[in-house]
Amino acid sequence: MEPAPSTIRDDFPILEQTVGDAPLVYLDNGATTQTPRQVYEIFEEFYTEYNANVHRGMHELSHRASVAYEQAHDRLAEFVGASGGRKEMVFTKNSTESINLVAYGLGMSELGPGDEIVTTEMEHHAMMVTWQQVAKRTGAEVKHVRVTDEGRLDLDHAAELIGDDTAIVAVTHVSNVLGTVNPVGELADMAHDHDAYILVDGAQSVPTRPVDVEALDVDFLAFSGHKMAGPTGIGGLYGKRHLLEEMDPFLFGGEMIQHVTLTDASWNELPWKFEAGTPPICEGIALAAAADYLDDIGMDAIRRHENELAQYALERLEARESVETYGPPSGEERTGLVSFNVDGIHGHDMSSLLDDRGIAVRAGNHCTQPLHDWLRIPGSVRASFYVYNTEAEVDRLLEAVDAAADELPRHLASDRYHDRILDHHRNPRNAGGLADPTLVKSSRETTCGDDGEFHLEVAPDGTVEAIAFESDSCAVSQAVASMLSVHLEGRPIEEVANVDGLVVDLLEDTFPELRHDCVVGPEMVIKEAARQYLERTVE
Ligand code: PMP
Repeated sequence: MEPAPSTIRDDFPILEQTVGDAPLVYLDNGATTQTPRQVYEIFEEFYTEYNANVHRGMHELSHRASVAYEQAHDRLAEFVGASGGRKEMVFTKNSTESINLVAYGLGMSELGPGDEIVTTEMEHHAMMVTWQQVAKRTGAEVKHVRVTDEGRLDLDHAAELIGDDTAIVAVTHVSNVLGTVNPVGELADMAHDHDAYILVDGAQSVPTRPVDVEALDVDFLAFSGHKMAGPTGIGGLYGKRHLLEEMDPFLFGGEMIQHVTLTDASWNELPWKFEAGTPPICEGIALAAAADYLDDIGMDAIRRHENELAQYALERLEARESVETYGPPSGEERTGLVSFNVDGIHGHDMSSLLDDRGIAVRAGNHCTQPLHDWLRIPGSVRASFYVYNTEAEVDRLLEAVDAAADELPRHLASDRYHDRILDHHRNPRNAGGLADPTLVKSSRETTCGDDGEFHLEVAPDGTVEAIAFESDSCAVSQAVASMLSVHLEGRPIEEVANVDGLVVDLLEDTFPELRHDCVVGPEMVIKEAARQYLERTVE
């Protein structure tokens, strides 16, 4: 059965709402999918009928909760093609924790100098950063398989990198930015030919296509419930049974033990050995309901629906001269997501403009900063689809993209921002660098996700004599940087170090709610710059 969005949508009441005056178009499924009735009703059932801790009580409620929770493991094992049932399925919080479980349980304990970790340039930070840390702590070396100009993995390069020193290949199945579907079966063969393990990040594949760990012969597969119509707070790690048996637990405490003395402990059987403390019980049971829900639609049908929507969107975006898209070109199968940029409009502005029309997308680097560096872009806009999305919704996205350049000025002057923002956008003050700044602070060193630099010239008496900024950030962020530079010039550096909510004050509290990083980001950067300057001068 093909997914039929008209009937599927009835299962997702959240989609019926309007945002402002416009019907919601939810295209941020790569981040989190919506949850159908069949899944969230499990919460009511659990909390009204059998809420209790698992594996601890002799009473009826605990028994019911334990059985349902255990069976949920079997169901998820089956969902990803693991014949070993619960012994091969550990529940975690999310993909990130699943990856960390392998990193700690296997990487930290087994790797050392001379070992190599082969990963790729297109990894999510969940993989990228975790294996970086394993390498730093163990002395192993990380190698990255190149991404080709068309956004695929360079398999010749993979074959060069994967060798006898490779201990583990850590690769994403589907890129959360490029939409590329990687040939993980082939990579598994390469890894196994050299007695290396393969860990696959299935965060974007398990929700969107049939995944069969045994057919692919992968050793570990990580995935998240909240990206597959399930709840947040629950994810899974498939692992081959003999590998999980050999691995050390990564969290210690109750539930994961078998026998404890004052000085030692032995571990519980699989998978409980990896599930220390009270687990996310209802979430796990609901995740099994999500697997049932997706299987009722059919994972093959979901894969086709994802690909059709992606092709529909991609062909039309590619046809627009002002739009640049990333990842394999249309015509090649991909998952249901499209990342793009529109000339002259920063991704944050675009997503904010889309939000004005009720369209939810994500903009930024999508936790793949090195991939965006490689693409030489600070960020991208990502529209990602799921079972309930339709071509008509893609059409609304395209209309909004076409209207964006005309709408930006009105948007900047709207209630959401302020006509002062529009003024600074049109006439930025102090844009460009200073010839001889006393200090320079890049927003990349802070967490705001913008891409800009403040230059400050500080006089010996601590007065800020000049401020300038260089920025590739969004229009809002640049306008705010301009406003701040005007306001703070001539003030004592201590005052800059202690700003707190200044931008909101400057905008006279006209925000209905301050929810935009781009508004507060520049203030964080300049404040941090001043703080660091003061710390240095005190020393
Ligand atoms: N890997 C990929 C490819 C992802 O897209 C994501 C989520 N964006 C993750 C890992 C991390 O998932 P979670 O935040 O659920 O741990």
